[in-house]
Amino acid sequence: MVVGGGLAGMAAALKLAHAGYRVTLLERRPFLGGRAYSFEDPDTGAEIDNGQHILVGACSRLRGFLDAIGAPASAFVRQRRLGVTILDPDGRQATLAAASLPAPLHMAAAVLRYRHLDFRQRATVARDVRALAHLDSNACADLESIPFGDWLAARGATAASIERFWDPLVRPALNVAASEANVPLTAFFVREALWAGPHGGAVWLPSVGLTRAIGEPGRLALEGAGVVVKFSTRVETVETGDRGVTGVRLREGERIETTNVVCAVPPEALERILPASARPPTGYTGVGTSAIVNVYLWYDRPITDLDFAGTFGSDLQWIFNRSQLLGAHAAGHCLGVSLSAANEWVDMPKEALARRCDRAVERMFPARRSAEFISSAVVKEPRATFRAGPNVTPYRPGPIGAIDGLYLAGDWTDTGWPATMEGAVRSGESAAEAMLVQQRSTTGAALIR
Ligand SMILES: Cc1cc2nc3c(=O)[nH]c(=O)nc-3n(C[C@H](O)[C@H](O)[C@H](O)COP(=O)(O)OP(=O)(O)OC[C@H]3O[C@@H](n4cnc5c(N)ncnc54)[C@H](O)[C@@H]3O)c2cc1C
Repeated sequence: MVVGGGLAGMAAALKLAHAGYRVTLLERRPFLGGRAYSFEDPDTGAEIDNGQHILVGACSRLRGFLDAIGAPASAFVRQRRLGVTILDPDGRQATLAAASLPAPLHMAAAVLRYRHLDFRQRATVARDVRALAHLDSNACADLESIPFGDWLAARGATAASIERFWDPLVRPALNVAASEANVPLTAFFVREALWAGPHGGAVWLPSVGLTRAIGEPGRLALEGAGVVVKFSTRVETVETGDRGVTGVRLREGERIETTNVVCAVPPEALERILPASARPPTGYTGVGTSAIVNVYLWYDRPITDLDFAGTFGSDLQWIFNRSQLLGAHAAGHCLGVSLSAANEWVDMPKEALARRCDRAVERMFPARRSAEFISSAVVKEPRATFRAGPNVTPYRPGPIGAIDGLYLAGDWTDTGWPATMEGAVRSGESAAEAMLVQQRSTTGAALIR
């Protein structure tokens, strides 16, 4: 039994089905994909995502999963190597582009050519990138409780380098402001996406709605592999006995027997469905949450020819040229604005948010001044991901639950990755693997007897 049809649950179910098990996946909503989904905006009629999703070359297991479910190659546009444009509030550009040199020279060259910083600042950033990439696990453990901003300050980093280099990269990757980020997770991101090679940071962007790119192909692949997918089915409790898991009870009251369950749901949902005897005393919600807000703005003409860009000193954070990325699927000239670590934005009325972003667009892109604003849509995800701040690691459990037959998955579990689609897939595969190992050892014991 797999509870939750996000990427973690889908990855777990597929792996178990491929290993020959009969798998039932229970999902409370009428579609798969979890926090990566698209829908038709009721006001504009356009298909929009609950939030812009990016993956990078380092997301190897996610790419393997997308291949395994037969996600169409045309569903993503991709770079060969890292190359991002960063804009200041008035639209002045600098690029951070991996050179075609062996690692780590590819990154040294990228940083040393980054024109939003003066040469001294670039040299300091290059030094700090290198230091982070070389932090070993002991050093990371020692730095668990230190905010990344303090680590940088102790090394003499300037406010400009935090604002213009670190925040545009770390904030969307960890969904927390760079100054408040968890150092081991930041170091991990730097190693995987920036340091390991020019392809690690190559950006992939969906070129269709997320449900078409992930959820739908995922459903077809799971059903093709024999997984029974039950939609609109909410698990109320995981039931347990002396010997571990005995079944799950659904909201409607039905009980389904099982001795093995992968719970692939966010921490607050897990806390609700597990009996106290199956939870650690500290619970799971200590990871905290962090919001993401996406603002979609439609104009009567193109505003920029950039595909996407990061910004600093502006309300925009990251912008995505949806018309260029999605073509006809974007319905008109649409600019997507993605705001990470957006807790301060979630309570703002949607119209005010859209107006604020539009004003920042106007300042940044001269083409806006002669364009007509058509409409907007705002999607708020108050609990988009766990909050990747200091001291988060102890709250991230491994795949094996506290009682027999219980396995845990989800982007928030102990994958080593920040809350990402890659982390979700890894967690699902790890939970399935843990269950398979347990099954094999049980079968092995039975044969010897
Ligand atoms: C706005 C936004 C932007 C993001 N941007 C990026 C990005 O750019 N790159 C990136 O890699 N990641 C991004 N993420 C994070 C990414 O979406 C998640 O890491 C990933 O989708 C999590 O997958 P999951 O399977 O762990 O959890 P979820 O996707 O949350 O799946 C859990 C599933 O369990 C179901 N469920 C919950 N309770 C029950 C119950 N009681 N019974 C049955 N089913 C239940 C839920 O409906 C859900 O489908 C973003 C997230 C958001 C919200």
